[in-house]
Amino acid sequence: MTSGREAGISWHMADHLARYRDKRDFARTPEPAGAEGAQGDHRTFVVQRHRARRLHYDFRLEVGGVLVSWAVPKGPTLDPKVRRGAFHVEDHPLDYGGFEGVIPGGQYGSGDVIVWDNGTWEPADGADPAAALAAGELHFDMYGTKLRGRFVLVRSRVDSNGKEEWLLLHKRDQYAVDGWDPEEHPRSVLSGRTNDEVRED
Ligand code: MN
Repeated sequence: MTSGREAGISWHMADHLARYRDKRDFARTPEPAGAEGAQGDHRTFVVQRHRARRLHYDFRLEVGGVLVSWAVPKGPTLDPKVRRGAFHVEDHPLDYGGFEGVIPGGQYGSGDVIVWDNGTWEPADGADPAAALAAGELHFDMYGTKLRGRFVLVRSRVDSNGKEEWLLLHKRDQYAVDGWDPEEHPRSVLSGRTNDEVRED
């Protein structure tokens, strides 16, 4: 029998970055091998637009010294009428938040990556984010260049392999924009480049 609190710690800290490193050959990919960091005063987030075998947006929130991560096929939106599927993936190191470049062919996730948005975030109502994620529902405010306002992540399904499907949505608030499409905002907030330009460089 494990308590909810123990389950919450194991949910995001059990294997730390082992799964991240197991998937990658750092002699061949320019991605960082990474170290776990300390929790700073500000929680960072990054959203990377990743053209791999399938286009998706990697949505990453700093929790407990790593970037807890979801792959969002259609990308986050400010449109409060839309719910986006978000597939929980392995934790990434904090320094992954600065990664923009090309992952070579044959490597895990091969394709091009831009830093589509970044900034800081905070849990709503002073919640403990690790406990909220373990319980399957996190309400939080984002302070990015593109993404602003109140978002919610809700776990909707866990398959027989333990893979978790979540929903990502924006609440109706002063930052909500009906019909907002991430594909209409295609440039990196780090370099101003598109994925095509990163691939050409
Ligand atoms: Mn990805």
